[in-house]
Amino acid sequence: MSGLSTDGVHTPVWVDGQLVAWDKAQLHAASFGLNNASCVFEGIRVYNGDIFALEEHAARLLSSAHAIGLEISYTRELIINAVVETVHASAKTNAYVRPLVWSGSEILGIIPDETPAHMAILVVPWKNIYEGKSSGIRLTWSRWMRPAATMAPVTAKASCNYVIASLARREANARGYDDALLLDHRGYVAEATGANVFIVLEDRLVTPIADACLPGITRRIVMDLAHEQGIEVTQKRLRPADIVQASEIFLTGTASELQPVCSVGDQQLPQEHPVTSALTEAYRQATGHNRT
Ligand code: PMP
Repeated sequence: MSGLSTDGVHTPVWVDGQLVAWDKAQLHAASFGLNNASCVFEGIRVYNGDIFALEEHAARLLSSAHAIGLEISYTRELIINAVVETVHASAKTNAYVRPLVWSGSEILGIIPDETPAHMAILVVPWKNIYEGKSSGIRLTWSRWMRPAATMAPVTAKASCNYVIASLARREANARGYDDALLLDHRGYVAEATGANVFIVLEDRLVTPIADACLPGITRRIVMDLAHEQGIEVTQKRLRPADIVQASEIFLTGTASELQPVCSVGDQQLPQEHPVTSALTEAYRQATGHNRT
């Protein structure tokens, strides 16, 4: 299982302003969002009852919607309040929240014309799906590439981009790896299938410029934490040859937090990863993960 199971989940779902039972949160097969991937979403963590980085996630949901031309009447404040309401209704203190916005079922076509956008918010109890991976995951290189910004809305958290991610992850798993690194259309390192990538090069932290990957919220927070710790951070174009020089590699994402990498293909990384460990601890403090 590489994701959170929804089997047996009975938390209420927020749908267009109403809380409904989990089983009632259904959509029509004619939904434009389903037929044409006109859908954007977020993934948010709740730590000990606190919804982490909620404002930033709400802002990204809106900018992702805008990027794919999804006309959404919900404001950032409404999204924030709706997430808070749904989390409270779930009575979960550690959870994963999935807000999503999609075009309705009024039209079958190429553009959703007068079709109103819908929003739903799911709250799933958090379960550590990364257990046993603290010493590092095994990555491979994917044959799939992240398209240019003129080929797909690559910097939006839009469903259409996840077809590539899903294909890349499946192939990596089938070959015995945990995840894969994808290059962009120019041959620069972009990201993993559902997380951003950082490398340590001569005590400096380096991450790809976020023009062919999702500009991750965890990525932004980790860069700030590194600055606070006096670690130099550079955003630059990375080649696979730079990865080979790395003394540490880790992935970042809301679900995976900071995930150390132990190998990329045949390349083994040292078992000691002091920069990753220091930033993992700082991130845990920031999320309140360590709070009793
Ligand atoms: N890239 C992709 C493709 C992702 O799906 C995610 C997870 N949302 C990330 C990067 C990391 O983003 P964030 O830190 O905002 O969760």
